[in-house]
Amino acid sequence: MIEDKHQQRTPLSNLGEFGLIDHLTQHFEIKHQSTVKGIGDDAAVVDFEDNQCVITTDLLVEGVHFDLSYAPLKHLGYKSVMVNLSDVYAMNATPKQITVSIAVSNRFPLEALEELYAGINTAAKFYNIDVIGGDTTSSQKGLLISITALGHAKKEDLVYRDGAKDNDLVVLSGDIGAAYLGLQVLERENEVFKVNPNNQPDLSMYTYLVERQLKPEARRDVIKLLNDLDVKPTSMIDVSDGLSSEIIHLCKSSDVGATIYEDKIPLDPTVISTCEEFELDSTTIAMSGGEDYELLFTIQQEDYTKIKANPSLTVIGHITPKNNGIYLVTRGDTKVEIKARGWNSLSEE
Ligand code: ADP
Ligand code: MG
Repeated sequence: MIEDKHQQRTPLSNLGEFGLIDHLTQHFEIKHQSTVKGIGDDAAVVDFEDNQCVITTDLLVEGVHFDLSYAPLKHLGYKSVMVNLSDVYAMNATPKQITVSIAVSNRFPLEALEELYAGINTAAKFYNIDVIGGDTTSSQKGLLISITALGHAKKEDLVYRDGAKDNDLVVLSGDIGAAYLGLQVLERENEVFKVNPNNQPDLSMYTYLVERQLKPEARRDVIKLLNDLDVKPTSMIDVSDGLSSEIIHLCKSSDVGATIYEDKIPLDPTVISTCEEFELDSTTIAMSGGEDYELLFTIQQEDYTKIKANPSLTVIGHITPKNNGIYLVTRGDTKVEIKARGWNSLSEE
């Protein structure tokens, strides 16, 4: 292998734990009044006054949730913030602060962590988030990233999973299936690269898919849009594991059933063409692929006119009584029961 002489590889041991923490956190700026104390004490302090505080956390493990042979560290930093912000938005709350904890093996030089933190900082700036703490430790093998996000909302604005009622409309933001296909494309190119490292992959056809996989955006815009339209969802969840499992979560929490229509599921044209190329069924990908980070929510029928003209919102079905079950009506007009086939990191398959 040819060593890039310009690419420095500073061992983490050169800095020591505290030197490393100082180095990585030096560019973070506090933006919010609610951040009373950020990095630098035994604990951070936040003050949301009369608001409710929402807290969510995610753990990402190398080899389980990401593969550094195709996920650039900068993107990984950005994405690990997004997955948390998405959960905060799914409560109809505004994220304000995050903590970032990492465990790294000595295989990572300082420059790698700088990349990771550059991505974290880009996300923090763009989404107006304060980084208020974290923890840094070593791992025997690989990289682990855990981010916790804090946000706030007025009590009456919070939206839970359990509020869907019979006859409510089921709405999805954006389109789904692309992130999963992006992963398939990257994995395929990675295999080709292993066999022939001189083979430079041409991913230009798949830009949208790869971007959805590597650099997802949390739907802050959808939360703002709903607020502007004066629509408060009756229930909401973010689509991290695939539509099947998310609709099941909503229905179980709300004690209702649902009917979804296959021909209403929003798919990007690249998803359709790439499914043909990979000989995959696009509905299966949309239902079971994960990591789209769209919002799935329910609204009252009377709010339909407020959202119907909007290109980023699609009504895909409606809520039914619980004993009707959870069904997909196919293009051929048959009813298929929806089963959770979302990606499950603990399953054997
Ligand atoms: P403690 O010994 O109390 O756990 P640390 O020395 O680990 O404190 O951390 C010092 C400060 O730096 C704390 O404010 C902590 O929240 C913050 N911090 C530590 N690691 C990270 C990290 N990876 N990213 C952001 N902040 C961090
Ligand atoms: Mg610590």
